[in-house]
Amino acid sequence: MEVSRRPRRFFIETWGCQMNELDSQRMAGQLMQQGILPTREPREADVILLNSCSVREKAEQKVYSRLGEYRRLKRDGRELLIGLCGCVAQQEGERALARVPDLDFVLGPARVGELQDVLARRRAGERVVATGFPAERTYDVDAVSRHGEYKGMVTIIEGCNKNCTFCIVPQTRGPERSRPLAEIVREVRHLLDYGFQEVELLGQTVNHWREPGGDLDFADLLEEVAALPGLERLRFVTSYPRDFTPRMVEQVGKHANICPSLHLPVQSGADSVLRRMGRGYTRREYLDLVAQLRRARPDLALSTDLIVGFPGETEEEFRLTLELVEAVGFSGVYAFKYSPRPGTAAPRLGGAVDAEEASERLQRLFALQEGIQRQINAALVGKSLEVIVTGWGKQPGTQTGRTPCHRVIHFAAGSEPVTLGGVTRVQVEEAFAYSLLGRRIELGGTSGTAETPGTTGQEG
Ligand code: SF4
Repeated sequence: MEVSRRPRRFFIETWGCQMNELDSQRMAGQLMQQGILPTREPREADVILLNSCSVREKAEQKVYSRLGEYRRLKRDGRELLIGLCGCVAQQEGERALARVPDLDFVLGPARVGELQDVLARRRAGERVVATGFPAERTYDVDAVSRHGEYKGMVTIIEGCNKNCTFCIVPQTRGPERSRPLAEIVREVRHLLDYGFQEVELLGQTVNHWREPGGDLDFADLLEEVAALPGLERLRFVTSYPRDFTPRMVEQVGKHANICPSLHLPVQSGADSVLRRMGRGYTRREYLDLVAQLRRARPDLALSTDLIVGFPGETEEEFRLTLELVEAVGFSGVYAFKYSPRPGTAAPRLGGAVDAEEASERLQRLFALQEGIQRQINAALVGKSLEVIVTGWGKQPGTQTGRTPCHRVIHFAAGSEPVTLGGVTRVQVEEAFAYSLLGRRIELGGTSGTAETPGTTGQEG
């Protein structure tokens, strides 16, 4: 009898931040080393991984309904392994196995490097829970599947020691742990050898990196990494305002290949709310830092995170947030309604804001921000920008890319489309709140213009 053979396939669904994206690339790489190939179709998969996020309650609730959908794929008797990974895995552990009978294993973020071992143990019959934060961790840079990515991501610091009162990350990602500089430089070099033009350094508090057992800090790391030959664009995310030092600001101003875009979460514009959040800086200190950064790098585009409806937030406190948003002129805002997370201090503060009131505030914030973005982006019309091509556009014959300030830009591909990850120049012809539209121009055909975002009245 002829035995039908087909390659084994895996499907990974990723939620949340860039750290999770990189973890998914690491897991994909380990599966490919075992000869298991990727698929975009869960019904074709022999291994399904749900790489989850628990920053907001809604995402966490969705995990169980999604696992329920995947479980149903086991009904046709096919051999299928389902793993829960990411922050919900760390948080739920054994509970997830008890709640989802067909779940095969649970793999926390600090145990991603152990996927192959976990699969082997499962195949031997064990339902595995691999969570917690071991001192020794496996990280094989050669086993990261970066296929299709225009930028290479490198974790430089894991976990967080800050304990902001709303945040679950210190529980799910564990205590702070910096990687040695030599290891980071080796990984960046490895990416450059593979042809990546853009590298993004990752960490929950990326600018709190310290050389383990040494004196070097993030300013020294920037100095060393930015100087690596062949590195066109260097980004880092997420910066913690209080951890920025004058030396780091100086580095941002000094290296042209450090991208003029910075994500600097402020969370609220009111000192009283910042205190209740345990953020450790004031509105004035944040605005002073913004002013220092813009002095060092006038073309800097800033984005931020904001929480609306934090316990006890009054209309006046929210108004201060709107004022701050207007004063800074952010090029992007990631704003969410406050979501109570288990094991955090904020739910005990009392003063819950009415859900409708919080939604209404969020809408007001979005409306304000949309107007600001339209104004900032409109100032780019007519400028020629260097663009890294990230993919094909939705319209036939168009491509999309990212400007140095990380804005999305669409343009006609022309007769010779640029390969993914390649660099071209695009003249901006139209601007919207969330993207730009332009046409490709010959290199050297138009004088280069810096992508300078406008501001709406800068304080500080
Ligand atoms: S700095 Fe605060 S918000 Fe950021 S990960 Fe740490 S605890 Fe969470």
